[in-house]
Amino acid sequence: MITIEKMNKFYSDFHALKDIDLAVEEGQRIVLCGPSGSGKSTLIRCLNGLETFESGTVTVVGIKMTRSSQAVRKARQQVGMVFQSFNLFPHLSVLNNLLIAPRLTGARNMAETREYAMHLLERVRIADQAGKYPSELSGGQQQRVAIARALCMRPKVMLFDEPTSALDPEMIKEVLDVMIDLGRDGMTMIAVTHEMGFAKTIADKVVFMDAGRIVETAAPDVFFSNPQTERAQRFLHTIL
Ligand code: ATP
Ligand code: MG
Repeated sequence: MITIEKMNKFYSDFHALKDIDLAVEEGQRIVLCGPSGSGKSTLIRCLNGLETFESGTVTVVGIKMTRSSQAVRKARQQVGMVFQSFNLFPHLSVLNNLLIAPRLTGARNMAETREYAMHLLERVRIADQAGKYPSELSGGQQQRVAIARALCMRPKVMLFDEPTSALDPEMIKEVLDVMIDLGRDGMTMIAVTHEMGFAKTIADKVVFMDAGRIVETAAPDVFFSNPQTERAQRFLHTIL
C-alpha cells in the first residue's frame, strides 16, 4: 500500500529525513512516535505531497510520488489526512464540510455522496450535528467531523498527525474510539500519536523516529515494555 525506500528530505541544508525505509501493507495500522523535531510530521506529509523529498522513492497506493502536480492530485484522492488542528471550513455547516471536496473534484452522484456523508457522520456519532457550524461544536466533535470529512473522499489510506493532542482529556477518548473503529474495519492507517493505549489496542507496529531516522520498529507490546534502543528507552521515560 505504501513503500518508502532510501528516502531523504532536506529543508535547505537541514537533513530532516535520513534514509527512510518503510513498507505498509494493506490493512496495516502503524503508530509513528518519537521526540519533537524527529521528523514524524515531515514523513507523513511526504506521503500525500504536502512536502517534497530529495532522493529515494515513495509509492502510495500505486502512485509514485514526484513533484508533478498530477501525482500529488492523485495521491490526495487516495490518502486522507487529519491534523492536530481540525482545519474545518468555518463558514460551512458540518455536512457541507464533508461535501465540499467531493463536489469540487466532480463527484458524479451528489445525492449518493450526501447519503454517504450522513452515514459517515453517524459512524463518528455526530449525525445530529450535521446542520451546525464548526464553531458550535466541541474540539472532540470537530475532530470527528474532520475524520468524517477525510473519509468522504473514500481514501485507501488515512494519515493522522497527533489528532488528539489539541483536545481536552475528556474528548481524547471519543476521537481515539473512532480511529480504533476505523482500524478494526480494515483501514490502512499511519497515526502519529503518543497515545499508548491506542497503540496497544490497534497498532500492528510502532515505528520510533529520532533525529530524522527510523531507529526502532516493533510490535506495540514489545516496544512499550522492552524497547531495544537507549533512545527509545529515554523517550518512553519522558512520555510515561
Ligand atoms: P513534533 O513532535 O514537534 O510535531 P515532528 O517529529 O513532527 O515534531 P517535524 O515537524 O517533521 O518533526 O520536523 C522535523 C525537523 O524539520 C525539525 O527539526 C523541524 O524544525 C524541521 N522543519 C520542519 N518543517 C520545516 C520547514 N518548513 N522548514 C525548515 N525546517 C523545518
Ligand atoms: Mg509533528
